[in-house]
Amino acid sequence: MTDMPLSNLGAIDAAHHLHPFSDMKKLNAAGTRIIQRGEGVHIFDNHGRKYLDGFAGLWCVNVGYGRKEIAEAAYRQMQELPYYNTFFGTTTAPATLLAEKIASHTGDKLNRVFFTNSGSEANDTWFRMARVYWKALGKPTKTQVIARKNAYHGSTVAGASLGGMKLMHEQGNLPIEGISHINQPYWYAEGGDLSPADFGLKVARELEEKIDELGEDNVAAFVAEPIQGAGGVIIPPDTYWPEIARICRERNILLVCDEVICGFGRLGSWFGHQHYGVEPDLAPIAKGLSSGYLPIGGVLVSDRVAEVMVEELGGFYHGFTYSGHPVCAAAALENLRIIEEEGLVERVRDDIGPYFAQAWKSLEDHEVVGEAESVGLIGGLQLAADKSTRRRYSSPDDVGTLVRNHCLDNGLVMRATDDRMLASPALIIARSEVDEMVDTLRKGLDHLRDTVRE
Ligand code: PMP
Repeated sequence: MTDMPLSNLGAIDAAHHLHPFSDMKKLNAAGTRIIQRGEGVHIFDNHGRKYLDGFAGLWCVNVGYGRKEIAEAAYRQMQELPYYNTFFGTTTAPATLLAEKIASHTGDKLNRVFFTNSGSEANDTWFRMARVYWKALGKPTKTQVIARKNAYHGSTVAGASLGGMKLMHEQGNLPIEGISHINQPYWYAEGGDLSPADFGLKVARELEEKIDELGEDNVAAFVAEPIQGAGGVIIPPDTYWPEIARICRERNILLVCDEVICGFGRLGSWFGHQHYGVEPDLAPIAKGLSSGYLPIGGVLVSDRVAEVMVEELGGFYHGFTYSGHPVCAAAALENLRIIEEEGLVERVRDDIGPYFAQAWKSLEDHEVVGEAESVGLIGGLQLAADKSTRRRYSSPDDVGTLVRNHCLDNGLVMRATDDRMLASPALIIARSEVDEMVDTLRKGLDHLRDTVRE
């Protein structure tokens, strides 16, 4: 696309392109940034400016930019067979082999994959699957789903309803019926005087209370991200996940782990639930499955659910034209081959993850930082007006944006969710690039300290 005239792209964009999650009036006035090229952990805009992408696109470019092998795998597949469906008794080799490859990394119990095009569709898919599962087992009243406040599960109707984002619910009369939300394990903001461990148990036990309130016979599933991503990289206390798993097991409701961000190496394990030692019944995936080179997602389905789907159901009337799209599947297969061959999951677990953790943690000595936590290559940093009392800034959104923009002006892409700074770099990031990231962020924190006094 480099031979396209780019000089008036901004004006064309303002005239014709509606962007996701954007205030279009503000964006059109400010002008859109045009990203033209990527290599490794770097992206380049149309003025040739180089940025270190501390966010791997949108938590997804796990193997980094510029992987010719993935482009070539897609090209080969596109020439041989650009499309065929997986309905009506057919499949293609890439779709089937990808399902097998994914299952080889999920442990003993998650052996099947249902393909979608995105994480949102994956969430809509398991939502139907969970209800269908219980109905097929003769428990048609088990339909309610419990999710969490401030969670993100996508932008489709079920996805946005499962998510706990108020601003999303306000648009489009959401959530739909049958979904309720319990509190998130966000100790810094909501933990009060409790220790993180006690707080983790307390919020996990809200699940039990909610099941009692709704009646166990009416609840199909509980869904959560192993680490909440878009909500601000909220890392749960260690007590949280084992307690959630216990409750789901004892109360006979399906546990759904949304692996869209945490899957494919981000936490230093193939999947986030493995890091926390829990076994979901269903798990939506996307992003790192293809490192974002082409859109593809899916749902990991446990034997428990699959046996009912296969033996009892007779037919699941659900699917997408592009479920298991052969070109996307070929790109994903090549992406997973790279992750395996370069040992990227182990690298995050044993090498760059611990290095990143130390560098990230070093920011806690800054006076505007309440805490800086990470797991693998995902980090959340809490801005604080007074770290001694955990007091937050009065305009959380403004301070996060201030730091983020300062980073951007200095060549680093970071993301902010309110007063939390989020990092999620490609799994190939070098130690020197981690240092650069943390140094630039530190300058952004200095800027906040020097410009906002509360
Ligand atoms: N679940 C989680 C945890 C996510 O972070 C996202 C996307 N950020 C989604 C679901 C939705 O995925 P998609 O944007 O591919 O629909």
